[in-house]
Amino acid sequence: MKIAFFCIPAHGHTNPTLGVVRELIARGHEVWYYSYEPMRSSIEPTGAHFVSCDAYDAHLSFREEDNARVGKDLAFSTELIVNMTLALDDAMLAELRVLAPDVIVGDSMAFWAKLIAGKLGVPFVSSTTTFAFNKESAKVMPRSGGSLLSMLLSLPKINKSLDRLRKKGYAVKNVLDIISNSNDTDTVVYTSPEFQPCSETFSDHYAFVGPILRPAEQTLEKVAQPTIYISLGTVDNLHPDFYRSCLAALGDAPYRVILSVGESTDLAALGEIPLNCTVAQKVDQMAVLAAADAFVTHCGMNSVSEALYHGIPLVLFPQTPEQSGVANRVHQLGAGQFLKSDDPVAIRAAVDSVLHDEAVRAAAQQIAEGFCRCGGAKAAADKIESVAKQ
Ligand code: UDP
Repeated sequence: MKIAFFCIPAHGHTNPTLGVVRELIARGHEVWYYSYEPMRSSIEPTGAHFVSCDAYDAHLSFREEDNARVGKDLAFSTELIVNMTLALDDAMLAELRVLAPDVIVGDSMAFWAKLIAGKLGVPFVSSTTTFAFNKESAKVMPRSGGSLLSMLLSLPKINKSLDRLRKKGYAVKNVLDIISNSNDTDTVVYTSPEFQPCSETFSDHYAFVGPILRPAEQTLEKVAQPTIYISLGTVDNLHPDFYRSCLAALGDAPYRVILSVGESTDLAALGEIPLNCTVAQKVDQMAVLAAADAFVTHCGMNSVSEALYHGIPLVLFPQTPEQSGVANRVHQLGAGQFLKSDDPVAIRAAVDSVLHDEAVRAAAQQIAEGFCRCGGAKAAADKIESVAKQ
């Protein structure tokens, strides 16, 4: 069987698919993975054919400062989706027709995948690396008043963008058509039915397969003191003030502290690093979490899932509405505590609190057990095969 994956250039959206691609290839299928150069080194080792979309996206490719706008500014995001779809339409549709994949698997934010599958008449599976979204689950993922207002104000601009798609033969009613899935859309969700809010309100088209984690590449030994890990993820992580606060909060604590600050943060700007702290632009997060006792996190879905898989209690410091949705769910299930400010005193208090609160640790452990009951990459591959065969 021939399978085409489409994804956006983000590790958080790519990582969970890698195990699925490996499983599909092990079953004898051939996979083409349409993504971007920064993701090539993660994708190629799976055995998939990497297809670079950068060339088609040269004039619109992400700039560092755009990362923070995606997901917050709907008009900007729609423009990006439309530009991307039309660029791929010109360059790749003919090629995809020749390839004739049996199924297209598209990240829930690589909206062009769903549009292209619809135009080609190829079965489609949505790969959803956050929570699945419907009007019930939306209640724990509230949009802030500000982003709702900016969405309403940007509607004329959005409609103009969508018209460009309609002219090229894409049947798009409105922006919701593109950015959300109905209960009939076959969807793989990388979390457990217990962690997904309102999972009982989703149809059988949804497969909650649990987090699909990559193995650690190194081993970090446990030490006598608790290990505290801090990261704001790979996208919107340029927050040197926050990192300085963390170092001030935990520099004299009886803990081993590991701080991942992202590749755009200048390490020298963080000042003197206390002896009990290690600061790196990137760490082997799976190795660190295997040895960690608490995690101060921006609440990216992957980071949270990876930590809860290890039963680690969380200090919740979300930066976007989507991350607030994840944080709310963790808090609702009792596995973490919100960081109320980025003041060193608040950081120290929150870390001490989750480390020593038995109930928080037990709640994290319970979510871990739910994750272990899920079918993982095998269940995701089963779902993709079943949709292709219909
Ligand atoms: N990650 C990593 N090393 C780091 C920081 C992050 O390997 O130093 C990985 C992390 O394990 C996760 C992904 O990058 O798989 C981040 O995804 P998430 O959804 O948490 O946040 P995003 O980066 O998309 O905001």
